[in-house]
Amino acid sequence: MTTDDQQFASDNYAGICPEALAAMTAANAGSATAYGDDGWTERAADAFRRLFDSPCEVFFVFNGTAANSLALASLCQSYHSVICSASAHVETDECGAPEFFSNGSKLLVAPSADGKLTPAAIRSLATSRSDIHFPKPRVVTITQPTETGQVYTIEEIRAIAAVCRDLGLKLHMDGARFAQACATLECAPADITWRAGVDVLCFGGTKNGMAVGEAIVFFDTALAQDFDYRCKQAGQLASKMRFLSAPWVGLLESGAWLDNARHANACAERLATRIADVPGVDLMFPVQANAVFLTAPAPVLDTLRARGWRFYTFIGGGARFMFAWDAQPERVDALAAAIAEAAATIPIAA
Ligand SMILES: *Cc1c(COP(=O)(O)O)cnc(C)c1O
Repeated sequence: MTTDDQQFASDNYAGICPEALAAMTAANAGSATAYGDDGWTERAADAFRRLFDSPCEVFFVFNGTAANSLALASLCQSYHSVICSASAHVETDECGAPEFFSNGSKLLVAPSADGKLTPAAIRSLATSRSDIHFPKPRVVTITQPTETGQVYTIEEIRAIAAVCRDLGLKLHMDGARFAQACATLECAPADITWRAGVDVLCFGGTKNGMAVGEAIVFFDTALAQDFDYRCKQAGQLASKMRFLSAPWVGLLESGAWLDNARHANACAERLATRIADVPGVDLMFPVQANAVFLTAPAPVLDTLRARGWRFYTFIGGGARFMFAWDAQPERVDALAAAIAEAAATIPIAA
C-alpha cells in the first residue's frame, strides 16, 4: 500500500504520531521499573493533572473497551444499571464487556436521533421504575464527541450532570475522541469534565495518535479505590507500563494531543465543504468533530466502493468517513472529487 492509498474508513487506520513515537523511543533507552512504578508513568499522570488542573487519579489500559467497561464496573454493583444512548459504543461495540466486567450491571438504552443523551431522556429512564424488580439506575455514560461526531456543549454536559446529581447518578464520559471535542469547543479540558460534573473520563489515546492506549481519569478520586486491582484482574495491567504511559507524555507535554485533533477536525470540515453542493449527497449529521456521515443513493456508494474507497455504513446506512492526525488534505480532496464524480453518473430523482 502506498501513501496514495490512504483511506478514511476509520481513524484507527493511522499510524503513531511523531511525538508519541519519540517518547516511546526515549522510554526504550535502558530499563525501568515494571507495572507502572516508573518515572514515565508518574510523569504522564502528572501531565494529566496539569492538563485538567485537578488532583485526579489516572490509570493506563490498552484499549477503550477495557477503559469504559472497567470504569463503569467501578461505579456499579452487579444489580445496578447504566443509562446510555442507543448508539453508544458501550452498547453497540463492546461485545457485552461493560455487563461482563460489572458482573451483570444492565445497560438501559435511551433512543436518540444523533447519539446524544438529553436530561429529559435520562430522567425518564431513571424514574421509569423504582421497585426492587428493576436494575437500580446508578450511572449515566455519555460519549464526547458522540459516535455520530456530535459534540456536547459545556451547557449540555452541565445540564446532564445536574440531572445526575438530582437522581443520585454518577456521570461517566467515553472520550475515545475527547481531544477532538476539546478542539471543537476550544475550551479547557476541565470545562467539559470535572467542572461540568463528570466523575470519570476515559480519554482516548489510540484515536489521538498513539499506537495503543487509553487513560482512565477519576476526578472523584474516591471512585478509584482498588481500580489497580480491577485492571490487573482484567488483564489490563501492562508489565512494561512505560510504553503505555510515555506516549501520553509525548502527546500532552508537546501539545500534539490538541494539534492532532485540530488537524483531524479540519479534514472533516474540508470534506464537508467540498461536497456541500453535490446533488443527491447530504450530510447525515452536522460536522462537529472528525467524522463525516453522508447519505447518498445506494448506486453512488457502490460506485465509490468500486473505485476503491473504503467506508462503513453501520450507523443508519450512511457512509462514515473518519479523519486522524495524519489525514492528507490532497487525499481528502481526492475523496471529495470521487464522491462528486460518482454522484454525477447517477440520475437523481427529482
Ligand atoms: C474507538 C472507540 C472506543 C474504543 O474502542 P476499542 O476498540 O476498544 O479501543 C470507545 N468508544 C468509542 C466511542 C469509540 O469510537
